Amino acid sequence: MKNIEHFKEALLMEKKQLGEELKGVGRINPSNPNDWEATPGDTQDIDTEDENSLADKFEEFEERSAVETELEVRFNEIKAALERIEKGEYGICRVCQGEIEDDRLEANPAAETCKEHINN
Ligand SMILES: [Zn+2]
Repeated sequence: MKNIEHFKEALLMEKKQLGEELKGVGRINPSNPNDWEATPGDTQDIDTEDENSLADKFEEFEERSAVETELEVRFNEIKAALERIEKGEYGICRVCQGEIEDDRLEANPAAETCKEHINN
């Protein structure tokens, strides 16, 4: 019998933390509340006449987008795991329908597969 509450707590904590980090690099897409998009950061001091300054800003935006994407992928994994808890499907391997090992869930509470199907 798994201690689901324990994993749920870990998931909720990570979700909150990711939400904070996402707010630092992006915002919720105004046309889709389930989607995040990167924001350009501080645009106050852009000198649009200065090509170097624009290039720097563009580079910064690229970096923020990369971080945002990574955070969002993890955020969605956590959300999906929490939904599985609600549906009573948590801790079941997506491939073999067997139980996911506790130590695997301990390492990654959002895991969708058992150790054997880790790359499936
Ligand atoms: Zn499996």
